Amino acid sequence: MRGPRAGMEVHFLAMDVSRRAKQIPPSSTLAITAKVRAMKAEGKDVIGFGAGEPDFTTPAFISEAATDALHDGMTHYVPTPGTPEVREAIAAKLRDENGIDCDASHITVNNGAKFTVFLALQALLDPGQEVILPTPAWVSYKPMIDLAGGTLVEVPCEGAQDFKMTPDQLEAVITPATRVLLMNSPSNPCGTMYSPDEVRAIAEVLERHEQVVVVSDEIYERLVYGDEPNLSMGSLPSMRDRVVTINGLSKAYAMTGWRIGYACAPGGDGAVIKAMNKLQSQMTSSITSFTMPAVVAALTEGAEEVERMRRIFAGRASLIHELVKQWAGVTCPRPTGAFYIFPDISSTFGSTSPGGRRIDSALDFAEALLDETGVAVVPGEDFLGPGPRHIRMSFATSEEQIAEGCGRIREWLGQLAPDEAVASSPSSTAH
Ligand code: PMP
Ligand code: GLU
Repeated sequence: MRGPRAGMEVHFLAMDVSRRAKQIPPSSTLAITAKVRAMKAEGKDVIGFGAGEPDFTTPAFISEAATDALHDGMTHYVPTPGTPEVREAIAAKLRDENGIDCDASHITVNNGAKFTVFLALQALLDPGQEVILPTPAWVSYKPMIDLAGGTLVEVPCEGAQDFKMTPDQLEAVITPATRVLLMNSPSNPCGTMYSPDEVRAIAEVLERHEQVVVVSDEIYERLVYGDEPNLSMGSLPSMRDRVVTINGLSKAYAMTGWRIGYACAPGGDGAVIKAMNKLQSQMTSSITSFTMPAVVAALTEGAEEVERMRRIFAGRASLIHELVKQWAGVTCPRPTGAFYIFPDISSTFGSTSPGGRRIDSALDFAEALLDETGVAVVPGEDFLGPGPRHIRMSFATSEEQIAEGCGRIREWLGQLAPDEAVASSPSSTAH
C-alpha cells in the first residue's frame, strides 16, 4: 500500500466531488416533475402543470417497430451517428419538411435532444467564447454553456415583446468573441415563437457577423398554434453552413422516455457533426439500437398522429390562455407554440397567501401554491432574464385538469392579502 509521499500534502477528501459537478444546479423542471410524481404516489390530490412532456402514450405503430426489431435480434452495437437508414430518414424529413439542404452524412442521432445540445456546445466552444442566449430560456442551457466553458451573454426579452429578441438587441451584444447564438423557437418556457419574417431578420444581422454559429433548438417545431409555421434558420441559403439544427422525437411523437434527439449541420462538410460523433463515440457509443427502426417509422408514417396530438394541444392552448387571462393582475402573451404558458405573476409580490406565507418571488409563489392548493407550477427563476417574475405552466395535461387547476389558482389569488392590509392587521401572522 502506498500513502502520500513525504512532503506531499493532500487537499481533498476521497469523496469530494469536482468543481465542475458542484458548479451546476440540478434541473429544476425535472425536480418539480419528480415531486409531483411522489405526491401523487402518496395519494395526494395534485394537479401538475410542471412536466414538460406530452401526456400521450407513444403511437402503437412506433412502439411495434421497436419491439419487432428487438425480437428480430437488433441487439448489437450500431454505428455511433445512427444507422444509415435512420440518418437518411432524418435528412429526408429535414429536406422535405424544413427545406434544409442536407444529406445523411450531416446527421447525428443522440440520447435525447438534451444530449444533442450538450454535444453541439462541446463541439463548438472553446473556453471564454461567448454564447448569446435570448432569455427566458430553458433551464438546461446555462449549465450546458458553463460545462463547455462558454461565457453566457443574456439578451433579456420581455413578455410585452412576446419574449422575442429583436434584431437590434442581437446586434448590440455581438462581439468578436461571439461564437454561438442559441435559439429556441417555439420556446420553452415562453410558449411563443418567431415568425418566418422575424427569423429572416435575425439571419440578416448574422450575415454581417460570419464567425457566429446558430444552434437552433427546434424540438417544438411541430407543436404550433398560431397562423404561421416554424421557419428553420438552416433552410435560408445564407445561413445553411452556419446552423446546427436540433430536433428530436420526444415532443412531437410523445416519446420522451425513448431518449432520441438529433442534429443536422451541413456546413464545413459536416465538421461539427463529425466532432459530435467523436465525442459521442467516447461517451455513449450510440443510442439504443432497436429504437432506430421506430425512428424511421415515426418520421415516415407519423404525420397523422402528430397532427392529432397537435390539435389537442391547440385546444388546450386556447383554454388555458382564456383562463389565465381571468386572473386579476396577471399578464401573459398567447401561447403560439410548444406546450407552455408563462404568466407574469409579479403583481403578487409583497402579498401574503391565505396560508400566511409571504410571497416575494416566483419560488415563494410556487411553493405556497403547491402547499395550499395542490397545484404544481415551475417558478421562473431558473429560466433567467425576466423569468423570476413568471411561472411556467405546461398544458400537456387534460382540459379537465387545466380547468380545475386554473380555477384553484384563481380562487387562491383572490384570497391573497396585499402588503398594506397585512401591515395594518393586528392579527397578522406575516413574517
Ligand atoms: N430543448 C428544449 C427546449 C426542451 O424543452 C427539451 C425538453 N426536455 C429538450 C430540448 C430535450 O428533449 P429530449 O432530451 O427529451 O429530446
Ligand atoms: N424539457 C422539459 C421541461 O422543461 C422536460 C424536463 C427537462 O428536460 O428539463 O420540463
